[in-house]
Amino acid sequence: MLFFLILLNFFLISFQFLSNFTMSKFIFVVGGVMSGVGKGIAAASIGRVLQSKGYRVSAIKIDPYINIDAGTMNPTEHGEVFVTEDGDETDQDLGNYERFLGENILSDNYMTTGRVYRTVIEKERNLEYGGKCVEVVPHIPEEVIRRIDNATAKSRADIMLVEVGGTVGEYQNLLFLEAARMMKMRNFQDVIFVLVSYLPVPSKVGEMKSKPTQYAIRTLNSAGIQADFVLCRAERALDESRKRKIAISGSVSPDHIISAPDVDSIYEIPIYFNGEQIGEKIMKQFGLKRKKSAPGLGDWQRLVRKIETVKREVRIGIVGKYFKTGDFVLKDSYISVIEAVKHAAWRQNLKPTIEWLNADDYETVPKQLAELKKFDGVIVPGGFGGRGTEGKIAAIQYLRKNKIPFFGLCYGMQLAAIEFARHVCGLKNANSTEIDPKTDAPVIHVMPEQEKVLLAGRYGNTMRLGAYPCVLDKKSRSFAAYGEKQIFERHRHRYEFNNEFRQALGERGLLFAGLSPDNRLVEIIEIPDHPFFVATQFHPEFKSRPLTGHPLFNAFVAAAINKRGGK
Ligand code: GLN
Repeated sequence: MLFFLILLNFFLISFQFLSNFTMSKFIFVVGGVMSGVGKGIAAASIGRVLQSKGYRVSAIKIDPYINIDAGTMNPTEHGEVFVTEDGDETDQDLGNYERFLGENILSDNYMTTGRVYRTVIEKERNLEYGGKCVEVVPHIPEEVIRRIDNATAKSRADIMLVEVGGTVGEYQNLLFLEAARMMKMRNFQDVIFVLVSYLPVPSKVGEMKSKPTQYAIRTLNSAGIQADFVLCRAERALDESRKRKIAISGSVSPDHIISAPDVDSIYEIPIYFNGEQIGEKIMKQFGLKRKKSAPGLGDWQRLVRKIETVKREVRIGIVGKYFKTGDFVLKDSYISVIEAVKHAAWRQNLKPTIEWLNADDYETVPKQLAELKKFDGVIVPGGFGGRGTEGKIAAIQYLRKNKIPFFGLCYGMQLAAIEFARHVCGLKNANSTEIDPKTDAPVIHVMPEQEKVLLAGRYGNTMRLGAYPCVLDKKSRSFAAYGEKQIFERHRHRYEFNNEFRQALGERGLLFAGLSPDNRLVEIIEIPDHPFFVATQFHPEFKSRPLTGHPLFNAFVAAAINKRGGK
């Protein structure tokens, strides 16, 4: 009997050991010196390099703020809200991961302080801590680790990159660093720390300074973490003497100090890192070998060569309202749109030139609209609220009448429907109830299920979010672009096309090119008698990938360059 119990115990212990033991490797990417130096792109690029060696790679973003998600933040505070396939409203870095890794990154791969605390508090309320005192340490880092393990298991990643937002030394991300440290203690061989630092070149001094980086390594040490790699972001490449200085003062192997100078295109970074053999060095530390099935970086290399050599220009305007306000400018708010235009242009061997157009100007100075003629195509992207909408509607009218390729995204689609109702169907008060709740022609109105949400003031994560199916009309340009009858695209909206107006607008030539399978929701509108007038209720930009582009963006850019050819 005793023998049996000992045996059972042995099995239990080994089972526990095995269940704690994951085969996956983890790379924590943390920032030093200052924020905004491209930690996300660095993480994504390391990921792409490791993928090229034959490994399954995924990535997690940790945002240290209390917000449960990025959905309730003003774009001028936060930049773009990136929507995942499963409907999470996240940070734009997830977009970088998707574009570089060529994979959908799901909600499990996104974490904020708010999310972590919420789970711990809920667990405590459900007595899941068995009456224990629940403490910040270890319970918060333990929940962080649980989330990392869960995301890793779900994405079946061999290697998981974990980007910790913010900069070392900040109070906000300490508990995440503690979680990372605990993971290293759990499986010493399986965790690597990469510090992305910045080396300034003060203009009066004229030489690159490594001291802030040395301090950042020490600050990380004070959290119990030793950097394994230091990526040195700077205007120029790092020289050997600085490499040595950082290595010696930071106890980092000199060949793990990687120079990461500014480059023209972010897509060059994986190639650059590969040249620095970062993949081999990381694999060596993990004890991994390049797999036989390794796809290499050939396709990526061809893309970068193309980006560097394309000459024929295609000129695209984007009409927006988030213009030079706060820390973020329009560029950050629409990063996925911009990247999608670039992908489509490169695919057609074109050099994209993208210009920002301020919608407010068209309201105050209608003459200004004539500038739209300079463009081969114009996009009116998503947005919220009333400001700038009249300017956008005026722009859409101009594009429609002057047969300039137009592509509307979400709000851009709603405003296109309003423009058509006003100026083609004579419904002069046509509007969205988001802008004018009392309009007698509510061509765009709030979705019925959204009304309750708004009345209850439940704003967080309650829009129609994530991927939904859409059925295409075989006669449409959209069908020609996708080559499929049913597509899945990502959404983020509360308002929709009001079906009471379907007949009136349809009779005057508007094509409802995409509908939800139950026919209830208008997803795409088109004007067939126009070089390109396509507008979608969804956000196709989130699914564009650098190597292939997105079908609708590809079709839009093709129409745009056609217009130029016809001039
Ligand atoms: N404001 C509009 C809505 O809520 C459009 C949203 C968007 O462009 N993402 O429906």
